[in-house]
Amino acid sequence: RLFGRGPGEDLRDEPRRVLDDQMLESLEELLIQADLGVETAVRVTANIAEGRFGRKVSTRELKQALAAEVARIMTPVARPLPLYPKKPQVVLVVGVNGSGKTTTIGKLASQFRAAGKKVVIAAGDTFRAAAVDQLKVWGERAGVPVLTAPEGSDPASLAWDALAKARAEGADLLMIDTAGRLQNRQDLMEELAKIVRVLKKQDETAPHNTLLVLDATTGQNAVIQVEIFRKIAEVSGLVMTKLDGTAKGGVLVALADKFGLPIHAIGVGEQIDDLSPFDPEDFARALVG
Ligand code: GDP
Repeated sequence: RLFGRGPGEDLRDEPRRVLDDQMLESLEELLIQADLGVETAVRVTANIAEGRFGRKVSTRELKQALAAEVARIMTPVARPLPLYPKKPQVVLVVGVNGSGKTTTIGKLASQFRAAGKKVVIAAGDTFRAAAVDQLKVWGERAGVPVLTAPEGSDPASLAWDALAKARAEGADLLMIDTAGRLQNRQDLMEELAKIVRVLKKQDETAPHNTLLVLDATTGQNAVIQVEIFRKIAEVSGLVMTKLDGTAKGGVLVALADKFGLPIHAIGVGEQIDDLSPFDPEDFARALVG
């Protein structure tokens, strides 16, 4: 919430104040605190000032203008994961450990299965036995097979086998989990590059999507993660998790402003149905409060 008012508080009788430099400065400060980042905060504030500077405004009008501005920035990036007639469509899922990759893959698999799609999951983080086990649990919940390889084996080799198997079985979608060890960036880069290379040997258009999963609670850190992963992989879209807590995901406005990458879905809890489409209006209202 950018403005510290509880629900039900009537703002209609509130005194209107002249929108001056000082007010704009406080607004900018609020936006920065809400993780919009300096550049985006400055731009949003300037847009709010346009046509209003020097005029009297109430907090309510300001909130409405701000919500409208946020929704305007977010509307072009609110796009569900595109489904292609291509079979199998290969979705590579990347992100740092703990961001919610495994959980998101499970939720997506469940949604696609419910929509009548045949889904296969590949547990590409072969170095973390716990991650593979987690994914198996999610596969069971979603009713989707999870292909695994022995601990420590080459993820690219698993990706190769998984694509061959998904194709042989006539699957619509293959979702590939990947490692998220950013502390060893060079290794990760080579590992992801090799997965992509191997996939392309079977289907030169693969992977068809590369989803970057981001944790809302990391705030501005998400900007750095997008920058890093865009260098490592051809990120085609984002999923932001953990928007059910106190984090309002203000950083998404900065990301939309800076990169314009589609936001395919948001995580709103730990259960299988807790994945929602990204709705710019709802998001803006929740952010502004
Ligand atoms: P990974 O290491 O990237 O595969 O991350 P996980 O999928 O294992 O998720 C890490 C933790 O975040 C787990 O405890 C999940 O239950 C939790 N988590 C993932 N998505 C969400 C979400 O949308 N909301 C909440 N509250 N927790 C989530």
